[in-house]
Amino acid sequence: MIRFEHVYKTYPGGSEALHDVNLHIKKGEFVFVLGHSGAGKSTFLKLILHEEAATSGRILVNGFDLSNIKKRRIPYLRRSMGVVFQDFRLIPTMTVYENVAFAMRVTNVKESEIRRRVPYVLKLVGLLGKENTYPTLLSGGEQQRVAMARALAHSPQLIIADEPTGNIDPEMSVAMMELLNKINSVGTTVVVVTHEHELAHQLGKRIITINHGSVVSDDLPSCDEEEPASDPEQAPAQPADEEVMA
Ligand code: ADP
Repeated sequence: MIRFEHVYKTYPGGSEALHDVNLHIKKGEFVFVLGHSGAGKSTFLKLILHEEAATSGRILVNGFDLSNIKKRRIPYLRRSMGVVFQDFRLIPTMTVYENVAFAMRVTNVKESEIRRRVPYVLKLVGLLGKENTYPTLLSGGEQQRVAMARALAHSPQLIIADEPTGNIDPEMSVAMMELLNKINSVGTTVVVVTHEHELAHQLGKRIITINHGSVVSDDLPSCDEEEPASDPEQAPAQPADEEVMA
């Protein structure tokens, strides 16, 4: 699912953001990536999304080898995951429904599928009834749920939540963690990137701690089982997250 092998990242100008990072997050896991400001969390995220390339080392994400990924394959890589950004990145001129539908439309999903899927993901995140509301009229927690619905729209194998408690109140944070747990319970891998020690320790899940660009602790014994090699374009559909609602 996510594998880093001896990954280094040095930005132009010489700032070393990641130093010999080795980790393996398996399909279906729920993992926190914890680190102070400046530890290298955003760089870790950017490498996974291939917004930045590693200076050296090997990165595998959802069956894609990012060391030699072709440009035309990058959209497939990004579609294999859903990211909930800290600042939500919603389009203010579009309703809740349109924000989610638009994300599907730009990747040429059929309208009939959009009409079926959007209400489903909005129900999953608890936003039924808000379809026609504009994001600015929603609370921070609700906006985050729209971002989550959008991230889930493509039935991704992997959900990444970037500082999910950064812009919402504590009650909403608990609810968001419960939602991520629910999504994880049907087989979707969840990675939560955070600087909040308490949040990471609340759920009793695996915590990978990054400090000054290096992994300094990982609370599970390392597992070296290989995942079967697969062509992501041929990969079977993600186990139905629709079971969540059953
Ligand atoms: P975090 O997200 O944990 O706060 P970052 O990945 O943003 O950490 O940063 C890790 C280190 O890399 C910091 O020292 C930061 O200053 C540096 N860094 C991050 N992005 C850039 C960039 N685009 N150019 C140069 N240095 C950067």
